[in-house]
Amino acid sequence: MCAAIAVATVAAMTGCKKQTDKTTNDKFSYNVDKFYDLEVLRYRVEGFEQLSLQQKQLVFYLSEAALQGRDILYDQNCHYNLRIRRALEAVYLNKTRNGQNTLENAADEQDRLFEKYLKRVWFSNGIHHHYSEDKFLPEFSREWFEAALAEAGYTLDKEVIDVMFDPALMQKRMAQADGVDLIAASAGNYYGDGMTQADAEAWYAAHKDNSEQPKWIGLNSQLVKVDGKVEERVYRIGGLYSAALEKVVESLRKALEFAETEEQKAVIEKLIAYNETGDLDTFNEYCIAWVKDLDSRVDFVNGFTETYADPLGITGTWEAMVNFKNVESTHRTELISQNAQWFEDNSPTDPKYKKEEVKGVSAKVITAAMLGGDCYPATPIGINLPNANWIRKEYGSKSVSIDNLSHAYDEAAKGNGFAEEFVIDEETRKRAEQYGTLCNDLHTDLHECAGHGSGKLMPGVTKENLKEHGSTIEEARADLFGLYYLADPKLVELGLLPDKDAYKAGYYQQMMNGLMTQLVRIEPGKDIEEAHMRDRQLIANWVYQHAENKEVEIVDRDGKHYLRINDYEGLRRLFGELLREIQRVTSEGDYAAAKELVETYAVKVNPELHKEILERYKKLDLAPYKGFVNPVYTLVKDEAGNVTDVTIGYTEGYVEQHLRYSRDYSFLPDVN
Ligand code: ZN
Repeated sequence: MCAAIAVATVAAMTGCKKQTDKTTNDKFSYNVDKFYDLEVLRYRVEGFEQLSLQQKQLVFYLSEAALQGRDILYDQNCHYNLRIRRALEAVYLNKTRNGQNTLENAADEQDRLFEKYLKRVWFSNGIHHHYSEDKFLPEFSREWFEAALAEAGYTLDKEVIDVMFDPALMQKRMAQADGVDLIAASAGNYYGDGMTQADAEAWYAAHKDNSEQPKWIGLNSQLVKVDGKVEERVYRIGGLYSAALEKVVESLRKALEFAETEEQKAVIEKLIAYNETGDLDTFNEYCIAWVKDLDSRVDFVNGFTETYADPLGITGTWEAMVNFKNVESTHRTELISQNAQWFEDNSPTDPKYKKEEVKGVSAKVITAAMLGGDCYPATPIGINLPNANWIRKEYGSKSVSIDNLSHAYDEAAKGNGFAEEFVIDEETRKRAEQYGTLCNDLHTDLHECAGHGSGKLMPGVTKENLKEHGSTIEEARADLFGLYYLADPKLVELGLLPDKDAYKAGYYQQMMNGLMTQLVRIEPGKDIEEAHMRDRQLIANWVYQHAENKEVEIVDRDGKHYLRINDYEGLRRLFGELLREIQRVTSEGDYAAAKELVETYAVKVNPELHKEILERYKKLDLAPYKGFVNPVYTLVKDEAGNVTDVTIGYTEGYVEQHLRYSRDYSFLPDVN
């Protein structure tokens, strides 16, 4: 339901002036690479060494399964992506003597620009920006590229080269603009050539499962038009993406040998069966088994999961993550989960939209051990699954935040000057430094563990009622729930916050980000598109526009604008008011109101403020988007071939890693 995208925390942004120390005895470095608006970091898998040998092997094989599906995402993002990536890699390998050299300092500027472009393609799993959805164009020339292809002895169809270089082709991965055919205008490959939005909507309507325990029709398939008729190509072994899914299943079978519990065994078995058949009842059984598997230390996601990338919000994007429970930090979220009913009962929403019984919100903090598919390199910092409402209602859901990734963001950002530039005064900065990370963690926990699971829909209303605004409204609802409770004395009472003022760090951070600093991710003149960004601006902007008593304001100091919060309690009341309305909109499936809220507050950007923020940000020379390289796991065997240990390595670079993945984990044909 949610892939909470990381917001750089103020604490991280604050830091002290000291530079990130890359030259300590410890060779581990969080900062790996930087190009365009992207930065690649490394994460530590704290506690891996302490796992049992069985658990380590389970992590190993689940990690293999996480990497086997990499090609699927490229193809889902755009059906030219695999051909482009392979051509780029062939040229790159040719120019660098099989990756032995880097082109970073190449004499020819075209070489350098080419390497940057390839890095960007890897980061985005294709030719569209992973966040803005816009196609990015090569900065090297077409002539240079065609010559380089010839030199490498590689043939690429003119049609594919056109897609790379012609700005008019495949402009957006996912279109969201009003009044366009969302499918025809999207480069994403969830629908085949010639499909229109009307075709897809008619097909979904005709195949909708209206039973009590509905199948998520369309979750695992591409809709195509054959002889004027819409047909479904199912993602399964023997169907679409078969070659990759076969490998996934092969690794899952090996993982099965190391399952920790009977429940976990059932999860893996169901997932194998689902990949084999594509059967959506089996998928539901898998989800239920997954929710019930609470005692295993190691856990994972692997498959067609989140639906943000399909313009109609139906089909799942392939993603994978392997993780294990962080026992100490989990205590924090357990407290929130145990109090979920109290939060529900005391929220400012209308009683008729409250759940009588909030159950099964399991809460844990995890350590990510491997990222794959749509979780790599850019990754969510929280997971809340499954997405099917009826399963959530009957069996609950699992909600996790991923501490080692948030921690890596914080560490990598220390001392980068951001807070000094954007936070209004020393006192606010100090508070942020002290409590920013904690508030951010708690806000994520409240969002995931209590927020998404709160509230109920009126009879006959489904998540689909809000259509293209559904994701934004849902994220705003969960965010507001978290914001409202961050300031509640209950958190101090539970020992989650040290005192009654600590929450202010979180409030400042959310407001500053939503109103101002997240704009660094938007190009001049562009609208906000991504659901989480829209959600954050919706909240901050709505509150700002409704702050009749100047609870919050933007002040001008020597031509620079800063957020000032004058009345934190008043701000909390405003969050509560908006939460009440957004819960109503959700519960009633009020599409018109959702559209009005999103269009009024979430999409448009103040161009002057935007320009100023970009200029100030540019001077800091930071990258607004982060992603990761994975660690490398290696099986250690004795002379008899028995596995005696699994080691973890942190030295693989960004380019090396992608070249290796393309060599060892690429199974799909060019065209699928
Ligand atoms: Zn969420």
